[in-house]
Amino acid sequence: MSNMIRASLSKVGSRCFTVQAASALRAAEPVFRDEEYADVDWNNLGFGLTRTDYMYMARSTKNNDFEQGQLSDYGNVELSPAAGVLNYGQGLFEGTKAFRGDDGRVFLFRPDQNGIRMQIGAERMCMQSPSVQQFVDAVKQTALANRRWIPPPGKGSLYIRPLLIGTGPILGLSPAPEYTFLVYASPVGNYFKNGMAPLNLYVDNEFHRTTRGGAGGVKSITNYAPVLKAISRAKEQGFSDVVYLDSVHKKYIEEASSCNIFLVKGNVISTPATIGTILEGITRKSIIDIARHLGYEVEERSVTIDELMEAEEVFTTGTAVTVASVGSVTYNGQRVEYKIGDGIVSQKLYKTLVGIQVGKIEDKYNWVVEIE
Ligand SMILES: *Cc1c(COP(=O)(O)O)cnc(C)c1O
Repeated sequence: MSNMIRASLSKVGSRCFTVQAASALRAAEPVFRDEEYADVDWNNLGFGLTRTDYMYMARSTKNNDFEQGQLSDYGNVELSPAAGVLNYGQGLFEGTKAFRGDDGRVFLFRPDQNGIRMQIGAERMCMQSPSVQQFVDAVKQTALANRRWIPPPGKGSLYIRPLLIGTGPILGLSPAPEYTFLVYASPVGNYFKNGMAPLNLYVDNEFHRTTRGGAGGVKSITNYAPVLKAISRAKEQGFSDVVYLDSVHKKYIEEASSCNIFLVKGNVISTPATIGTILEGITRKSIIDIARHLGYEVEERSVTIDELMEAEEVFTTGTAVTVASVGSVTYNGQRVEYKIGDGIVSQKLYKTLVGIQVGKIEDKYNWVVEIE
């Protein structure tokens, strides 16, 4: 352990951590006393970045492997100007959350799924990736080291952001010679802060998120800057987010900028099938299982924009938004409204998912990982 990290541990140790003997790396990890919280206005948490204490970092080795990672103070990272990520966008991100239960226990939700997705993405982007075990361990370490930033029950969660980036220098277009796996975290508020806040979505006819054969099915950082224009144009007109259409027919809906989309008609819930142009959300997958258990019929298939306009209810899913009901969709100047409020399908799904995530509803699926 470097002197810098040790010094920072003892610095915060006086404030809120107990520091154990620094004989081994593990033994020197910060130990959190439950009663202590970071100085945050927990009632007004938004979805922005709050700086926390620690981040995790590991570098790839020559053997297609990653070194054992380390926690260090949260701060800037140094990069070669020729780093693969800066020049050619070789990078992936992930998003997962840590939750605090009523009894103070801390839970992660299906972190292995994020680790598997990072491996699939790394294969697509010609990057080395950490093992699923190292990924999950890094997420746990980051959550626990920043434990005082995990919001009190009901106030939000600790959003955890793993990154895999090509940090080795490369001039010609080819995979970077070295990769860095980095994990940081920020407390975020509940999406449904003011009760139900239904989304108003805009269907974009001009900009597409991805195309067949592209990288839309993986969480590549290259998928996101190109949609900023569509998002900002929609936001200027008062919309919450954009729904993208397939780029070939401009007829089938795909998803929103960072969440998957579902529609409800009677007892049937439909969502676009993942065929490489849609990100396979872990929330999407979980909601499909929950909905089936609750007795709904769930279809994964091609869904046309016309069907979306004729649905009874629409909602989106993602780690950041959890389950967000959609109040309206606007397409080609036509605006349709959907059922919102208590008792709608998305509310039932939302309550079940969150109940499982915070340990209030029995986890029949073995999704929740308690961390110590
Ligand atoms: C991350 C993401 C989602 C949601 O995935 P989750 O695993 O549920 O968080 C959906 N669509 C896009 C484009 C995303 O980047």
